[in-house]
Amino acid sequence: MSRFDNTDKLFFKYLVKNRGHICEIHQRECPGIGTMHILPKGIYPRLRYSEEAVVLAGWFCSHYWTHHDARNEKAIYAEKRILEIRNYPNWEELKEHLLLVERIAPKNDLKMIAMYLKKELSTLEA
Ligand SMILES: [Zn+2]
Repeated sequence: MSRFDNTDKLFFKYLVKNRGHICEIHQRECPGIGTMHILPKGIYPRLRYSEEAVVLAGWFCSHYWTHHDARNEKAIYAEKRILEIRNYPNWEELKEHLLLVERIAPKNDLKMIAMYLKKELSTLEA
């Protein structure tokens, strides 16, 4: 249990509604699909709920490897796909962009974020 559980769940639902229940790395329904942050959310907390800072990805095909072995071919492939998805020529430029997004993003207001996501989800469902 963490204070982010509710908003993390809503954010995942919101992304699935918009992008489909697919692994964006492989463009299919890989096992264990979840929200994968392009930059670590522990270090960059203001990117936690930034749509452009995340992709939906399978845990076993991609996410696990980016966390545990960045030099594994699955992690390398995931990085390559993230650049394609975000349309950036290299990791440095993508990172520079996301760091700017982080710097101008407000501090996470979990109550407001939950309210926003619930509203958006109800609109998308209608
Ligand atoms: Zn996958």
